[in-house]
Formats: sequence, C-alpha cells, structure tokens
Amino acid sequence: MKLDSYWLDTAPPLLSACEGPVDGQTDVVVIGGGFTGLSAAQALGKRGAAVTVLDAGRIGGGASGRNGGQVNTGVAQDFVALVAQLGVERASACYRAFSDAVDTVEWLIREENIDCNYIATGKLKLASKPHHLAHLEKTAEAIRREVDTDIELIDRSRIRSEIQSDSFHGGLLQRHGGQMHMGKFAVGLAEAAVRRGAKLYENAAVTAIVKDGSGFRITTARGEVRARQVLIATGPSRHGPFGWYRRRLAPIGSFIVVTEPLSPELLAQVFPNRRAYTTTRLMHNYFRVTPDSRLLFGGRARFTASERPSDAKSGRILQEGLAAMFPMLASARIDYCWGGLVDMSADRLPHAGQHDGIYFSMGYSGHGTQMSTHMGQVMADVMDGHEDQNPWRESEWPAIPGHTGKPWFLPLVGTYYRIKDIFY
Ligand SMILES: Cc1cc2nc3c(=O)[nH]c(=O)nc-3n(C[C@H](O)[C@H](O)[C@H](O)COP(=O)(O)OP(=O)(O)OC[C@H]3O[C@@H](n4cnc5c(N)ncnc54)[C@H](O)[C@@H]3O)c2cc1C
Repeated sequence: MKLDSYWLDTAPPLLSACEGPVDGQTDVVVIGGGFTGLSAAQALGKRGAAVTVLDAGRIGGGASGRNGGQVNTGVAQDFVALVAQLGVERASACYRAFSDAVDTVEWLIREENIDCNYIATGKLKLASKPHHLAHLEKTAEAIRREVDTDIELIDRSRIRSEIQSDSFHGGLLQRHGGQMHMGKFAVGLAEAAVRRGAKLYENAAVTAIVKDGSGFRITTARGEVRARQVLIATGPSRHGPFGWYRRRLAPIGSFIVVTEPLSPELLAQVFPNRRAYTTTRLMHNYFRVTPDSRLLFGGRARFTASERPSDAKSGRILQEGLAAMFPMLASARIDYCWGGLVDMSADRLPHAGQHDGIYFSMGYSGHGTQMSTHMGQVMADVMDGHEDQNPWRESEWPAIPGHTGKPWFLPLVGTYYRIKDIFY
C-alpha cells in the first residue's frame, strides 16, 4: 500500500516549473499553487499581468491533489440550516455561487483543453438513518422551491437502483456536478497558467511578506521577489507569515483509501450510475469510482491532522467502514492511503477579499475543488478593481474564539461530533 495520494501518483509530470532562484519584480505574486492559485494565475495571465506562483512544496500537492475527486454543486452545509443562518436570499446566493463554480470548472476544462476524465454524473447524498431521509426531503423541497429544480429525492424503494448497499434509506440527487482526476486537472491548470505567461516555483516556501513602497517584498526559501499585488491562496497553511488566517481556520484532517482496480461487472452492479456519493452522518464518508475502476473511499475517520505514518491508522478505520457498507468489496486490496487538511471556517463558508492590502481566498471547508477554481478566476477580477464580483465580499470573518493559530481544540471537537453522531 502506498501512503501517497492516488491523484498525485497517477498524474503526468509538471514539466514547466522554473529552475533557479526566485528574484526580480513582477505584477502579482500568488502564494500557493493549488487550484485557487493556479486558476488565479491563469486568469491574471490572460489579462496580461506578469504572475509568479510560489508553492512551499509540489504544485497541486496540497488539498487540490489530495481530495475526494468530487466537483459538487450546493453549499457545504445543509441548505435548510443555511437559510436559518443567513435568510433565504443570501443562502440562495451561496448555493448559486457553488453552482457557478461547477460551471467554471467545466468551462476551464474546455477553454484550456485539460484532459482530466471529467464526467458530469451529479452527487447522491445518502441517508444513513431512516429519519435522515425525512430531513433530506425537507432540504430537497427548500432547494427546489428557492434555487435549483434539477434535484430528485430517491426514496427507500428506489435506492437499490442507485447503490447496492443495505446501509442507506434513500438519498438526494443533485444532477449539476461531476468528478474528475484531480492530479491531471492540477497539472493541466498549471500548464495553462504557464501558457498565459505565469512562472511557477516549487519548494519556495514563503517566510516573510513586507510592505515595500507601493508594493510588497516576498521572501522565500529560494530567494526574494517584489510585486505590486499579492494573493494568498495557501488553504490551511501551518507555516509562513499567515497567523491572521490561521486564527480563522481549523485545519481538519480528512483521509482516503483507494482499492485495487475492480471488475467492471462488479462496479456496474454496485455503483450503476457512477455518482459522487456522500453520506449524511456528521462523521460522514464520501466515495466514487476512479477512471481506472478503483473505489476511492474517504472520510474524517479521526479528528487529527494528517501525518504520513499515522494516516495508515485512519486508513484502517476507513477500510472497516468500506467493508461494512459494501460487504462484496471487503476483500479488495487497498493500494493507496493518504490524508489532507481541510480549511474549515467557523461558518463553513469561503472567505475572500483583502486584509492589510493583501488579497486572499480560502475557507472552502471541504467543498473547494470547484469553489477554489472559481475563486481564482473571481480574484483576478477583484484584483483588477471589480470587487463586486466577489460572492463572499459581505461576510464578516472574525477569528475563531480561543484559536491562537494552533488547533488545540480538535480532539474535543472530534469527541463532540462522535457523541452527537450517535443521537443525530
Ligand atoms: C482529504 C480531502 C478531501 C476533499 N474532498 C473534496 C471533494 O471531494 N470535493 C471538494 O469540492 N473539495 C474537497 N476537498 C477540499 C478541496 O480539495 C480544497 O478546498 C481545494 O483543493 C483548496 O484549494 P486551494 O488552492 O485553496 O488550497 P491547496 O490545494 O491546499 O493549496 C494551497 C497551497 O499552498 C501552499 N502553501 C502553504 N503554505 C505556504 C507557504 N508558506 N509558502 C508557499 N506556499 C504555501 C501549499 O503547499 C499548497 O500547495 C477535500 C480536501 C481534502 C483535504
């Protein structure tokens, strides 16, 4: 079993990263080479800006290359709860923003001719308990009434036509959405940014950002560069001069296992419509079939950060969950196991804008493959003076109370969710 991301292990190599030191003067420095940063670099380059992307590690090696492979519409949290929190108008605007984000991914794939196995088969949220279906029904009614008619409630009598498992009592199908090979998308987007003139630097961790005249001086592990504008696209970064952001995000570990390739007959029987699947538990699971016929199965497993050796422990918990849900797959060999960090905000909504003259976009809360890509495009507009394009411009972003930048509270939150899940 490889303790590595399947997406990164099976992606083509990125051939166009810069060698040599980071130096000189540029229009925009983008810190972070995930989907937010790469999409922003592509869009800014298209407008004629000189862009330098700096990543502490491998381009696409953060959450963007380590996720569940789903490109879903709909908000991270339950729509009914979001309406209670924000009112119908703002909740509907949030939902629409996620729908637009799926469109942005599909458009970019076409525009830049990115080969990433995208299929638009929608998302099926599966009710793990009988009363969860009643809640999904209420959610479906609210979504259909306010914002999206392209959804369908699958009741208990029909759920077997969607998935061969005794674990579910129905589901909510949102058709607008898809899935793709995240490593291929990351490399494709990076090459597109380079075609638009961007320079990409790997292993260039940013250690300081200092105001310098009308711009900024950015210090990295590979040298210094000056820029007129800076965009921080670092997700839940645990190093570098990003304390203000760290106090606003909880870096929550999420883990994934991938099986050996499975027989097409078996897959056609268990997952006939090849949806992106999630479950309704608080400690939920998400899964899908990969382009080469493996099952990718993920979940929170443990409330802990992802660290290479201990990811295997989370993998074993996931393997047990997979076997309980799909007994016919219990003996499938596990070929990959890895973890990543989700940039969870307190309101589980993205946050983007400007702080101390520096632009930022993050906080996608586990629903960011589409939103980070979308926000990269949006931030290019915002940095060009069109602040009104930012769908998150009106939301406040206070620090998480008691959060000093180190997530000491995660084990407590984990215990709380585990207990809550029993009664939920
Ligand atoms: C296990 C897991 C499963 C997920 N599943 C899904 C899913 O199925 N669907 C979905 O929509 N979303 C999912 N997500 C969330 C989604 O992957 C992220 O929201 C999205 O990829 C965020 O992109 P990003 O570019 O903002 O951040 P990232 O991809 O994390 O990129 C940030 C980059 O910043 C770099 N960086 C950090 N600090 C520094 C520094 N000091 N200097 C320079 N560079 C730095 C990092 O190296 C990294 O490459 C999942 C996330 C995880 C972890």
